[in-house]
Amino acid sequence: MNATNPETLLEFQERFGSETACEEFLFRWRWPEGFRCPRCQGREAARLTTRRQYQCRTCRHQVSVTAGTALHKTKLPLRIWFWALFLVARHKKSISALQLMADLGLGSYRTAWFLLHRIRGCFDESADFPLRGLVEVDETYVGGTEKGVWPGRSASEKGIVVAAVEVKDNGRLGSARMKVVPDVKTRSLVPFIEEVVAPTATVATDGWPAFNQLDRDGFQHERHVSKGPRDSVFHPVLNAVHLLISNLKTWLRGRFHGVSRKYLPAYVAEFMYRYNRRRSPPDLFGWVARRLMCRRSLTLRCLKATADASA
Ligand SMILES: [Zn+2]
Repeated sequence: MNATNPETLLEFQERFGSETACEEFLFRWRWPEGFRCPRCQGREAARLTTRRQYQCRTCRHQVSVTAGTALHKTKLPLRIWFWALFLVARHKKSISALQLMADLGLGSYRTAWFLLHRIRGCFDESADFPLRGLVEVDETYVGGTEKGVWPGRSASEKGIVVAAVEVKDNGRLGSARMKVVPDVKTRSLVPFIEEVVAPTATVATDGWPAFNQLDRDGFQHERHVSKGPRDSVFHPVLNAVHLLISNLKTWLRGRFHGVSRKYLPAYVAEFMYRYNRRRSPPDLFGWVARRLMCRRSLTLRCLKATADASA
């Protein structure tokens, strides 16, 4: 069995069957090298039996194992959090709030929904691994009205997602990034590309004028101009990014039956996380748990601590 990732329901139940067991795991994720007082950096603490708190032996400062994390002041039992994490990690194509509510016997859909969204908030990709080689970029409209809307760049009630994907020499898809953007103007599309694509990459786009800035930025820029109607589904080139976008839409339709624009970023982040790890199933359970422990302030220091803890 993986050090942190239980593989079966039985293993999970054996390791996280009590509040104490869950708390011990949180403690280890939060302080992998042992307790450290946030006030005086003291290394020794006594556990207060009544709450999930520890008291520094040097300055007597009390700190909760969940303080400053996504679980801060949670009223839910830790076991519910761990079960939710396990189920999200276990279901290859994610889990709906309704299913989570039923599986965990939660009293309300609202509780299940909030729980899931707290967890989804952890699925943001690190900017440490920019896309390289040939990278196709395009944007798409997601959600909102499906019928009677021209799928071009005018469907204002839909969410807009910009996608970038590496195209390998054999034509297969490599790593990818996606982001929800407010519009399809240069100011929204180009900063995304600058953020996720290595400066040495070749960027392939369609002929949308907003991408002209890429040439001025010094990117190798291939423009593929279609003479047909501007409909991404039938666009003759940029097959890789269109396949990725099509997979996103299928996943959203199949799993969630409609996604509001407000929460689209969280779903897109989860899709990306799963896509980029599709060939090497990760220690998703442990990874998300560690991210939850850093969630409230995703500073660089916090991200580094997460990376170190998972190394
Ligand atoms: Zn202290």
